[in-house]
Amino acid sequence: MEFDLIELIRRHCAQPRDDVRIGIGDDAAVLAPPPGQELAVAIDTLVEGVHFPRGTAPADVGWKALAVNLSDLAAMGASPAWALLALTLPTADADFVEGFVEGFVRLARPLRLALVGGDTTRGPLAISVAVHGFVPPGQALVRAGARVGDAVLITGTLGDAAAGLHALQHPVREDDGRAGLRDFLIERLNRPTPRLAVGTALRGQATACVDVSDGLLADLGHICTASGVAAEIEAALLPRSSALLELHDETSALHFALSGGDDYELCFTVPAGRVAEVQAGLARLGCGATKIGRIVEGDGVRVRGADGAWLAAGRPGWEHFA
Ligand code: ADP
Ligand code: MG
Repeated sequence: MEFDLIELIRRHCAQPRDDVRIGIGDDAAVLAPPPGQELAVAIDTLVEGVHFPRGTAPADVGWKALAVNLSDLAAMGASPAWALLALTLPTADADFVEGFVEGFVRLARPLRLALVGGDTTRGPLAISVAVHGFVPPGQALVRAGARVGDAVLITGTLGDAAAGLHALQHPVREDDGRAGLRDFLIERLNRPTPRLAVGTALRGQATACVDVSDGLLADLGHICTASGVAAEIEAALLPRSSALLELHDETSALHFALSGGDDYELCFTVPAGRVAEVQAGLARLGCGATKIGRIVEGDGVRVRGADGAWLAAGRPGWEHFA
């Protein structure tokens, strides 16, 4: 489509890498994967009004479109290298593209991730990013490896992004002195941090791993299904930010933490005897991980309340058709 837009993207995303033989500008990119590594690839689409609220700042959309894909690579224990970007725009809006690319590059540049090609078309605003990363042979983290007796851990805090979306959807008219707390949660929604260093550190350590995009219950459920096991979660152990706990009562904070999507934390399992060692290793990387439960025989995810009684199954997390 618009040559100017593609040129604008190419200029802003320049990232020299020896393994990009041919980047943006030809009919296809030509890439040289490092010998002896396996290639991990993932693609995710963000549609305006579905995956991000209408009116989200272009730079936030650019960050998030890349971040959700990098989170998938993190969950596999892969190191990112290259990306493709398919942009569908209602109009040839250079301001939007400029902002979008600014957010995209802010995340891509420190990782030395190269944008090597894409597609630009007209239509309702939607963005697809495909990412490519490397992982040593046989060392990818998978969903299927959880074993009975393993501990279940989660990085960071849960429920912030869902509470951020709630804050956007329920604007407060008067200054109640808590705008800073809401801004923190909205930032967690718009600028998720892909846990790439955690993912690579978990190679050979975690028995299973998934990133939390649809909510803890839904995504840990994927590990259970793939591994043929069940998980028991302790509500009292779920890590939650002080912003979430200050703005919401226990019932809704728990709901956000269990079922809210878009946090992009990593949920993983390790043999029970390795928990402290793995936690110490991740702490050295600057990322806390909390033990929230354990793997047992059976199927599905159960949650025990602070009083020791099992909680009734709540609404599941977001399930997408695509
Ligand atoms: P073709 O018609 O051969 O597919 P295009 O005109 O769509 O070529 O794209 C020209 C070049 O610009 C290609 O190298 C393509 O990968 C790149 N490109 C197009 N759109 C984007 C985009 N949104 N982001 C990055 N590269 C893009
Ligand atoms: Mg094309």
